[in-house]
Amino acid sequence: MGAPTGDAMRFDTAAIHAGQDPEALYGSVNVPIYQTSTYAQDAVGEPKVWDYGRGGNPTRRALEEALAALEGGEHAFAYASGLGAETSLLLTLRPGDHVVLGDDVYGGTYRLLTKVLEPWGLACTTADLADPAALGAALRGETRFVWVETPSNPLLKIVDIAAVAEAAHAAGAKVVVDNTFATPALQRPLVLGADAVVHSVTKYLGGHSDLLGGAIVTSDAALAEALGFLVYAIGAVPGPMDCFLALRGVKTLGVRMRQHCANAGSVAAFLADHPKVNQVYHPGLASHPGHDVAARQMEGFGGMVSFTVGSAEEAIRVAEATRVFLLAESLGGVESLIEVPHPMTHASVAGSPLEVPPELIRLSVGLEDPQDLIDDLARALG
Ligand SMILES: *Cc1c(COP(=O)(O)O)cnc(C)c1O
Repeated sequence: MGAPTGDAMRFDTAAIHAGQDPEALYGSVNVPIYQTSTYAQDAVGEPKVWDYGRGGNPTRRALEEALAALEGGEHAFAYASGLGAETSLLLTLRPGDHVVLGDDVYGGTYRLLTKVLEPWGLACTTADLADPAALGAALRGETRFVWVETPSNPLLKIVDIAAVAEAAHAAGAKVVVDNTFATPALQRPLVLGADAVVHSVTKYLGGHSDLLGGAIVTSDAALAEALGFLVYAIGAVPGPMDCFLALRGVKTLGVRMRQHCANAGSVAAFLADHPKVNQVYHPGLASHPGHDVAARQMEGFGGMVSFTVGSAEEAIRVAEATRVFLLAESLGGVESLIEVPHPMTHASVAGSPLEVPPELIRLSVGLEDPQDLIDDLARALG
């Protein structure tokens, strides 16, 4: 699948081998878990590679090399969580700088900007980035980042990354894409003109709901230098065990995403025909306003499906009635999850421009047999 990545390995090959050569001493085919906080030095001031684990770790470095290869970027940095990655990226900015934020980004991104970084001195404007006029109106002389999330969480809005990059670059701003929902298996923002990609590794990259992690990938040398300094200065770094689990997850990313896409497509088609369902949000449906852009910039439509039912109470009733779909926050694991964003994942954006309809249900469609998933939803919808 996909075009060759930077070192000429195709995607599914790079996922298994990039940064993951057999270990030198015993030939272990898996990168060992280097569970250490510090490194013995041969002489004062002469560390072999790293002196202290906040600065670097071989298991972490392997994950970073794998993610750089998969996104087609030159530099990658791993973090303790997606929000740890986002905080580090935004702290490369200075008080007085301005960020344009898509109006349907992850609620935690909005909370970080408005509740933590605005008081610290950053300015932030939300805009519908699918609308060039709205983007144009939001850009200012001090705009440093245009922050895109596509497909977005939870309304699965699609933004044309290349078009936003052209407009942002003309205004002197850089483009950050939160690629958590698509993953590099389906969408490579750096190739489309973005300057940095940010991930919640917790989701599809890890893929098994057993770790927290974040990452940034970029080919911008100045940004990479600033990020490298902040890794050590801030310390939002992941532990070696979580990096090992993320690497194991990444090995099957291509095959998992293909099946997530197929299962989500089946579930979306079922919901679109169901009399108790009002609207289905999935970029693979021809009725989705971003379908054409998604078909152009993605290699599949992803594993997320959202839909509305008759009322907020009905949304809660359905989410509590499924048996295969587990009622839980988060997404991107092998198991299917169901949630009601308004009172759950998106409670922090109630009353903001990012508020979502209370009758909305979000599904993370997993890798179970799709007929079992459809039967489960049919039973729950009644
Ligand atoms: C979950 C999520 C994040 C935050 O990641 P954490 O690993 O939970 O800190 C950021 N962006 C998107 C799109 C997410 O789904």
